[in-house]
Amino acid sequence: MTTPRVLDGNAIASQIKAEVAAEVEQLAVQGIRPGLAAVLVGNVPASEIYVRSKVRTSGQLGIFSDLITPPDTVTTEEMLELVAQLNAREDIDGILIQLPLPKQVNAKLLLEAVSPAKDVDGFHPVNVGRLQAGQPGLVPCTPAGMIQMLKRSNLPIAGQNAVVIGRSDIVGKPISILLLHENATVSICHSKTRDLGSYTRNADILVAAIGRPGYVTPDLVKRGATILDVGINRVTTREEFDKYFAGDAKREEMFVLKGSTIVGDVHPEAFKASGAYTPVPGGVGPLTIAMLMANTVRAAKLRRGLAA
Ligand code: NDP
Repeated sequence: MTTPRVLDGNAIASQIKAEVAAEVEQLAVQGIRPGLAAVLVGNVPASEIYVRSKVRTSGQLGIFSDLITPPDTVTTEEMLELVAQLNAREDIDGILIQLPLPKQVNAKLLLEAVSPAKDVDGFHPVNVGRLQAGQPGLVPCTPAGMIQMLKRSNLPIAGQNAVVIGRSDIVGKPISILLLHENATVSICHSKTRDLGSYTRNADILVAAIGRPGYVTPDLVKRGATILDVGINRVTTREEFDKYFAGDAKREEMFVLKGSTIVGDVHPEAFKASGAYTPVPGGVGPLTIAMLMANTVRAAKLRRGLAA
């Protein structure tokens, strides 16, 4: 059995960020500084970590960022007013509203209020439609990063059987469409799919975007397949740890030190049957922020007629 190739998301994200920084420098010559507004509502610790990391990365690449932190008592009307102000601001090219939002805020209404030209998450129905139609627009960051991962690793997509487990608007649906545009033959599986293995065992490219720890077991994987594991699931108990990582000394060290670790939607044993796979952490995750930066610069250019 050949050793599977580990697809290093950190290395590819660094490449993309270096390219974005070079673009930002070129725009500076023309007196343009791309700007990102990051809206973080309330005190959800995970959201705070994500948003702060996005703001920090913006700064590193020369992108202006404005962190806006409404209280968790904010109303839909107040949020709509904020979005209207951000839509009108000349120094802002991208608007990011970190999810989840408090229950009293109508998230759907809000995401639809973001100008499609500044919708760097690619969630607005106009951008969803453009993606579907194969027209230029802003594409959701995680799926866009996954395509970059495949292309920059010189892994074939055209003609491959791709199976996507998960049909969310954020990951499953957009990655399915992007793979289709790259001429893969795509099957989309979900919780109502009968006999999941009959699909996944034919997958040359297998995408797991389920949100269930270690759900994809070795029997579901075609030998030599490329596996993209999107899942981020926290493991906090010894019992869970042993289920996924028994005998993995490096993980053990991390687990003991931090009291938790992360497992994807793919069981680590299943990676052994693959030809190439994205590890968790360090696979798909780092690409999400890199693509957010790329989208912000793209939005800045599109708005000024500097990109098609
Ligand atoms: P959602 O919960 O929105 O969607 C999960 C999908 O998985 C649904 O379509 C659901 O089917 C399907 N599913 C659930 N159970 C099964 C099952 N037993 N068999 C087959 N399909 C099943 O999750 P997201 O797409 O938002 O996220 C998926 C994972 O990716 C999560 O772990 C999330 O944390 C992670 N994530 C990681 C990112 C990154 O940057 N690396 C970014 C975004 C997400 P149905 O539609 O029928 O309910």
